[in-house]
Amino acid sequence: MKLRKSLLASFCAIAASTFNAGTAAAQKDWPTKSIQMIVPFAAGGPTDSIARLIAVPMGQALGQTVVVENVPGAGGTIASTKVARSAPDGYTIYIHHMGMATANALYDKLPYDPMKDFEYIGQVADVPMVLLGKKDLPANNFKELEAYIKANGSKVTMANAGPGAVSQLCGLLFQSRLGVKLTNIPYKGTGPALTDLLGGQVDLLCDQTTQTIPYIKDGRVKAFGTTTLKRLPAIPNVPTLNEQGMKGFEVKVWHGIYTPKGVPQPVLDKLNAALKKALNSPDVKKRLDDANIDIVSASKATPKGLKDHLDTEINVWGPVIRKANIPD
Ligand code: ASP
Repeated sequence: MKLRKSLLASFCAIAASTFNAGTAAAQKDWPTKSIQMIVPFAAGGPTDSIARLIAVPMGQALGQTVVVENVPGAGGTIASTKVARSAPDGYTIYIHHMGMATANALYDKLPYDPMKDFEYIGQVADVPMVLLGKKDLPANNFKELEAYIKANGSKVTMANAGPGAVSQLCGLLFQSRLGVKLTNIPYKGTGPALTDLLGGQVDLLCDQTTQTIPYIKDGRVKAFGTTTLKRLPAIPNVPTLNEQGMKGFEVKVWHGIYTPKGVPQPVLDKLNAALKKALNSPDVKKRLDDANIDIVSASKATPKGLKDHLDTEINVWGPVIRKANIPD
C-alpha cells in the first residue's frame, strides 16, 4: 500500500514537472498560431477600426497574424462575457472601450466582473465624440436643434450601439441635459448606425471621430457639437457642447486591451511589448492623428495603467449614470 502511494506520488511529481516544463516551453514559444482579437461591436465602426489598425502591427511584432472577430450585441457585454470565459492561453485577446467601466452601472447584474475576470495589457487611445444629425434635419446649429427637439419630442430618433455603448451613454446624457426623451434605436455598433444616419433613416447619433470627420467635412452629416472641452483641430468650426450651454459635457472614449484571467505572465509581457510597438508605428500614429484621436502616454499603455484607469472610471461613471437616470 505504502509502495503504491509512493509510486503514485513520484508519478504525480514527474507528471507535474513534465507539465510545468511543457507549459514553460509553450509560454516561451507563444505564439505558435494566429491570435484572435475580439471586438464587441459590428464591423465598420470606431472600435472595429482601431482594432484593425493595431492588429496588423501587433501581429508583426508577435510574428503571427492577429485576426479580428466581431462579437456584437448588448452594448459589448456579450463579447466581454465570451472573453471572460475563454481559455487563458493568450490566443484570445480583447479590445473594448470605456463601456467596460460603464456597463457596471447600466446592467443590474453582469455575468462577469470587469475588475476580476480579466488580465490587463494596456490602454490604447482616447477618442472624441461628436453629436451628429442627418443631412436633411431642418436644424442647422445647436440652438435650432434644441428648438426642433422641443417641438418634436419623441418623434426624433437617436441611434446608439446598445446599453453599455458610449453612443448610448452620450445620447442619453445629452437627452438628460435637455430634459427630453427621444426614441432611442439600438444597433450592433455605430458602423451600421452611421450607415442609417447617412441614409436618413435615423435623425441623430453620437459617434466617435474615428470615421466621421470626412462625412462632417463634406456635409453628408451635420455636426452639432463635440463632446470635448476644446474644439477639435480637424473640425475647428464645430463648437463644443460645453461652449453651447452644456457646461462640462465631456466624453472621451478610452480603449484598452484585455485577455481572460489567468494568462501566464510571460505571454502578457509579450502582448504588452507588441501593443507598445504597435502604438509607436508611424502609420498608426498618423491615422489616429488624422481623426484627432490621442494615443495614450507610455505609462497608460501598461497593465497597471489600464487596470487603475478602469477602476477609476467605474467609480466616476456610476454616479453620473445614476444621477442622469440612465437607463430610466
Ligand atoms: N464605439 C461605439 C459605441 O460604443 C460602438 C462601435 O464601435 O461600433 O457606441
